Amino acid sequence: MTKCDKCDQEGLLWKIDCYDGSPPDKFCLCEKHAQERGFCLGCGHFLAGVEYYEFSAGYKYGYCQPCWTTLNDEISDYQA
Ligand SMILES: [Zn+2]
Ligand SMILES: [Zn+2]
Repeated sequence: MTKCDKCDQEGLLWKIDCYDGSPPDKFCLCEKHAQERGFCLGCGHFLAGVEYYEFSAGYKYGYCQPCWTTLNDEISDYQA
């Protein structure tokens, strides 16, 4: 297993795409630290500093707006 860079939890691989063609920055982080670092736990996109995402209702839970909407749709489907 791969370990989180910040703690002893199992980590997942997260990456920040570079738009200039260089290889993406990669991080191995658990969900908690990935969220702290600014990654969406749903789609894995890097959200920090992106206003559109920071104003998402789900941002504080670690989700961007599209993922949060999907998640809530699933919850309401389940409850219905
Ligand atoms: Zn961690
Ligand atoms: Zn997302």
